Amino acid sequence: MLVNIITVLFKGHEQKYFAVVLYLEHILIRKYMTTFATLMNTMTDIDKKIDEVGDDHFSSAQDTPLRADAFEMSDEEKITIIQEKFAEIMHTLGLDLTDDSLQGTPRRVAKMYVKEVFGGLNPKNEPSSSTFENKYDYSEMLVEKDITVYSTCEHHFLPIVGKAHVAYFSDGKVIGLSKMNRIVDYFAKRPQVQERMTIQVVRKLQEIMGTENVACVIDAKHLCVNSRGIRDIQSSTVTAEFGGRFKDPLVKQEFLNYIQIKLEQ
Ligand SMILES: [Zn+2]
Repeated sequence: MLVNIITVLFKGHEQKYFAVVLYLEHILIRKYMTTFATLMNTMTDIDKKIDEVGDDHFSSAQDTPLRADAFEMSDEEKITIIQEKFAEIMHTLGLDLTDDSLQGTPRRVAKMYVKEVFGGLNPKNEPSSSTFENKYDYSEMLVEKDITVYSTCEHHFLPIVGKAHVAYFSDGKVIGLSKMNRIVDYFAKRPQVQERMTIQVVRKLQEIMGTENVACVIDAKHLCVNSRGIRDIQSSTVTAEFGGRFKDPLVKQEFLNYIQIKLEQ
């Protein structure tokens, strides 16, 4: 039908017909190219934004962003899924998964993610929060320093390695010293942002001990900064959170003296 109309309309004017077709094609191609270019620009913008957010280690919340259904699946179910997905990642990278050395890697990584390095995501792994009465009436600052931190940057999934220093003044309760290490470790064992980890440690200790007087300083190296991107081997990041009495500059300096960090005037 359409062909008939075109044939009638352009009878004897075939050149004009081709000119019209060419023009229409030209418009279509231009439109397609513009859409394609816009799409490519948007993709580059998205990549740029992803890099910026990651390299600036920007965090939007004090709580780890977990979904409401985060623990509906069992650990075993999660391990099975991660194992499959990790095998896909390795395969996509071009690795031969039938090789003896690589065969076990997907399952090893999956178990390590769920049970170890990200085990602190699951509230069931939270250390018990038992405290004791402050029978000695010890009223000075208590500092637990050089607690080893092994965490993972949530923007690059690369290690964060460093030390945490935690201090508190008792308001009637005291806590076992190793408990502080366990709390640091619990919050470290998740995809993290160092600022958030510091705040989470302080908030948890404040809650357990029923006092605002808690402080935490974390000094850590981020492998995403040290080994890639800007490749700054020497730099480390210091974050601090001071609650209650630690907001007083003298008290703060006393704590920092214990851990040998100078407060800038
Ligand atoms: Zn990072």
